Amino acid sequence: MAQAIYINGEYFSREDAKISVYDHGLLYGDGVFEGMRIYADKVFALEDHLVRLYESARAIALNIPIDIDAMREAVNTTVAKNGLKEGYIRLVVTRGGNQLGLDPFRCDDPQVIIIVDSISLYPEKYYTEGLDLVTASTIRNHPAALSPRIKSLNYLNNIMAKIEAIRAGCVEAVMLNHKGEVAECTGDNIFIVRRGRLLTPPIHAGILEGITRNTVIELARKEGIEVAEETLTRHDLFVADECFLTGSAAEVIPAVKLDGRLIADGKVGPITKRLNEVFKKHVRDDRAHLS
Ligand code: PMP
Repeated sequence: MAQAIYINGEYFSREDAKISVYDHGLLYGDGVFEGMRIYADKVFALEDHLVRLYESARAIALNIPIDIDAMREAVNTTVAKNGLKEGYIRLVVTRGGNQLGLDPFRCDDPQVIIIVDSISLYPEKYYTEGLDLVTASTIRNHPAALSPRIKSLNYLNNIMAKIEAIRAGCVEAVMLNHKGEVAECTGDNIFIVRRGRLLTPPIHAGILEGITRNTVIELARKEGIEVAEETLTRHDLFVADECFLTGSAAEVIPAVKLDGRLIADGKVGPITKRLNEVFKKHVRDDRAHLS
């Protein structure tokens, strides 16, 4: 089936799916987005992603031109048109605009874009052997400058850290906040296991409130694992028994090394393995899509 890309209610081939070079999404990274997964023909946690999208838009005073019901319908129709049983969805709303000036209030044509594509983020070996991480010297955006809670099109902060990761021979970097506490990774949230407890930085550490993060917290509690949102420092990562990352694209991925040091014995830990299995089962469970 040929790819059908949604732009403002119409469908285009990949070659013909185009928006203006004057769009402030391109000129200034002015816009918001979501990345979602399709499992067994259904969009996982679509409601949560839609709520976050509209909240991100509100936070940057961007009026999405269609309401949440119409957006849900647009996403589901685009998924059906593309016929992918498993895949990835990139939902983007740009500021629009037809002039070069910064003023967002002179832009009155936000562009709604839905791309459905296949995905393979990390090679399978990272899921079985675990990732090697570095701590980036680029800190996560200060929440009073650009809140990491906004999933905006401006990803340069994350890209700066990603450059450091790749230059160091890694695929992901741990980002600290302005206080030196662990925030998150460039495109994933972070968890550690310490003495049987599952720990992850709180929202006020300056992170994106990941939907996979919330799912994993819920699943871990159902499994009888104690979970806490606690301030973490690099020290906590160095002395952790286990570490893993979560994200819609990455799912649950173990990390076994940080800044050249092994985390515990450098092997994927039992709680990480268990949560990975429970997560995989959960996302294909029909009821999980109704939340
Ligand atoms: N943090 C950042 C910076 C992200 O970009 C993402 C999404 N890729 C996440 C965390 C994970 O969020 P979610 O589980 O909602 O995909």
